[in-house]
Amino acid sequence: MIVKTEDLVFAYQTDDEKTVTALNGVSLEIEKGSFTAVLGRNGSGKSTLAKNINALLLPSSGVVYVNGYDTKNEEFLWEIRKSAGMVFQNPDNQLVSATVEDDVAFGPENIGVPQEEIRERVTEALQLVGMQEYEKSTLSFLSGGQKQRIAIAGVVAMRPDCIVMDEPTAMLDPQGRKAVMRIARRLNDEGITVILITHFMEEAACAGRVIVMDDGKILLDGTPAEVFEHTDEIKHAGLALPPVVDLIGRLRKRGVEVPATIISGEDFLKWVSA
Ligand code: ADP
Ligand code: MG
Repeated sequence: MIVKTEDLVFAYQTDDEKTVTALNGVSLEIEKGSFTAVLGRNGSGKSTLAKNINALLLPSSGVVYVNGYDTKNEEFLWEIRKSAGMVFQNPDNQLVSATVEDDVAFGPENIGVPQEEIRERVTEALQLVGMQEYEKSTLSFLSGGQKQRIAIAGVVAMRPDCIVMDEPTAMLDPQGRKAVMRIARRLNDEGITVILITHFMEEAACAGRVIVMDDGKILLDGTPAEVFEHTDEIKHAGLALPPVVDLIGRLRKRGVEVPATIISGEDFLKWVSA
């Protein structure tokens, strides 16, 4: 188990001394090597969960373990940060250097990786995100999507076991979104555990497991096919079903027996034309 939370509660204290309970009893186990999508409307607690996994926030009550380390134990903070890397929505907030190679090298340099190995890690990470030709480029000349790929490379260069991506495609155009999704899958193929937070249901379809959050709690948890069957709950949670899943739901209501495993437009077309 790479991530485990037990009855995790997190409350923010606001300036006017109010308490906002953002997570209200989340118990969750994420297996090593898995690809999990976390869905939920704005304010459902997704980012708060991500920050608890990275020990940027500590539980108000309950426990979070990353690779077996309790995040409350300060002694293991660096182990936890190395195990679980974070990618945020806005790449501009996480890029720290002027050039691509310096930026990707920044993390490994900070943890004292030898110079020679840093070179290797930078090359490898840039290859993984398909940005190797940009090694010498200036970050400010890159598009949003390219910057996000560099931000991901920076996390990859830390050789984490797990990467938590908090709406990494939210600010990107469709092409940038597709590239980031391909990279997420490639990372997972390389054995890295991926936790992808998104409000795009189509993106969740390519995960092995989907968790739907609502009001600080886990509402649904299962394979994409299992979760997408709960159309009423999904709509109640303020999410829009992918058009093809919505269509399949309507067909089923009219007695057409579409197999439950079909959740993508591609699969649906294949099934229709078979
Ligand atoms: P999501 O990422 O799903 O949009 P968040 O985890 O950001 O949700 O927020 C969950 C809840 O916590 C929301 O009600 C939000 O308003 C509140 N919240 C988030 N950050 C803060 C903060 N820094 N101070 C007070 N309340 C916050
Ligand atoms: Mg968020």
